[in-house]
Order: sequence, then C-alpha cells, then structure tokens
Amino acid sequence: MSNLKNKLVVKNKTKLRLKDYDPSDNAGFNKEDALNLLTENIDKLKKLQYLLYAENKRSILVVLQAMDAGGKDGTIRHVFGPLNPQGVKVTSFKTPTEEELGHDFLWRIHQHTPKAGEIGIFNRSHYEDVLIVKVHNLVPKKIWSKRYEHINSFEKMLSDDGTIILKFFLHISEKEQLERFNKRLEDPNKKWKANPQDFEERKRWKDYTDAYEAAIKQCSTSYAPWYIIPSDRKWFRNLAISTIMVNTLESLDMKFPDSKL
Ligand code: ATP
Ligand code: MG
Repeated sequence: MSNLKNKLVVKNKTKLRLKDYDPSDNAGFNKEDALNLLTENIDKLKKLQYLLYAENKRSILVVLQAMDAGGKDGTIRHVFGPLNPQGVKVTSFKTPTEEELGHDFLWRIHQHTPKAGEIGIFNRSHYEDVLIVKVHNLVPKKIWSKRYEHINSFEKMLSDDGTIILKFFLHISEKEQLERFNKRLEDPNKKWKANPQDFEERKRWKDYTDAYEAAIKQCSTSYAPWYIIPSDRKWFRNLAISTIMVNTLESLDMKFPDSKL
C-alpha cells in the first residue's frame, strides 16, 4: 500500500502531461477492499493525529485542488471528517475580497497555516493565484509568472518551520465532471450546488489543464510534493489520500513527550 504514495507523487516533472494520468485508475484495488482499508487508515490517522497533537512540534498542511466537482468536499468529509475536530482546521479560499486584493497574494493564506500539533486543510489555496488568475488574465503575466517562485519560497519557509506539506490534485475526467454536474441537477438535495459559473469554467478545461500542469511542474518539490490522485472513483480517491496521509505521518517517527511531573 505504501507503493501508492510512491506511485502518485509527482517526480518526473519535465514530461508532466495530465493526459498521461488516467483519472479512473484504481491501482488494482476493488471497491470493497478499498472501503475496508479506508476504515483501517482512518483508525491509524486518529492515533497519529493524537500523537501529532501531543508532540506539539510539527504541523500538517493539506492542499486540495481540483476542477469543479472534483471532490474536495467529499474528501474533507470522508477522510478528515472522522478526526478530532479540535485539531483540524479547514479553510476554504473563495474569490478574494477587496481587502485581500489590496495585499500580496500570500497574505490571506499565511494567516490560516496550521500551528504546531494541528492539521490544516486548504480547500483551494494560493494555487488559485496561478490557476483561475492565469486562465482569466486577472493580473498581467509578468505578475503571475513570478508566483511559482514565490510559492516555492513560501512553502520552503513553512517546511523549515516544521510544517509537513502535502498537495493533492484530484484528477477527474471531463466526462465525469459533466456526469457530476448533471447528477447535481437531478438530485433535489444537490440542486442548490449547481452553478452556471461551473458550466462556464468547464469550457476552459484545456486552459485549466495547462495551468495545472504548469503549477504542478514548477511547484512539486521535495519539501512540498504534489500528488496526482485519480479521482473519478471516489472510493479510490479516499483510499489514496488516506494512505498517503498515514504513510507520511508514520514516517515522522513521532514520540509522546515525557511527563512534566
Ligand atoms: P463548491 O464545491 O461549493 O462549489 P468551490 O471551492 O468551488 O466549492 P465556490 O464558492 O463555488 O467554491 O467558488 C470559489 C471560487 O473562488 C472559485 O471559482 C475559485 O476559482 C475562486 N477563487 C479562489 N481563489 C481565488 C483567487 N485567488 N483569485 C480569483 N478567484 C479565486
Ligand atoms: Mg464551485
């Protein structure tokens, strides 16, 4: 299972093409086994979270990025929902406010990075500033093109300060996205989620793909790697992310501190 981490981490950056990654890959797992393994992973994660909190030295930052309907919400619910909410902080980054736009692009992000002992989850992130911003030319190229370097420096600083960074791109196919949009429209409980803007953005699939490839290529580093998670199958997505989380936390070799008595 630890192979999953190795398999999904982005290593060969120069040749990265998302079309070479199959969004419905399941690495040989079936749904039933995957659901059992997810339960096991969650049990392990709960214990590791407790240890992370007790140790109070390091923090975990999870970055979730995806096309619309890619499954960020579902991942948060299924993989991180069962953890102790006292130690998990989810931040959703939406269109920046005027106040936020008046500052550098990392200003609003930095305020939400996790402190020691905490797991921070970014539902969208500073990567939007080289994704939607690039696709829609929200700032000139000479501004956004420097941001990859700024992101790497920022993430290196966080990493040096004790933050373990994991970045997940939930990779779905164009077809799967359309099916999910249509399902939302058909389901009275999900209809409220359907958004005309999502259909508009869908027309720019190719531009978003290019923007993701550039971001993943330029910002997958040893200290803050990107993982490309095949996400057409939700059960595989949850298995993959929970496995990578468990492996990463286990590799920290955390210890309970001595008693203060
Ligand atoms: P949901 O699954 O509920 O639709 P969401 O993350 O798509 O969740 P929305 O409120 O639909 O949330 O959309 C947030 C929007 O904000 C996205 O279109 C995203 O691209 C945009 N956004 C986020 N950060 C920035 C940014 N820095 N600059 C411009 N737009 C941004
Ligand atoms: Mg949305």
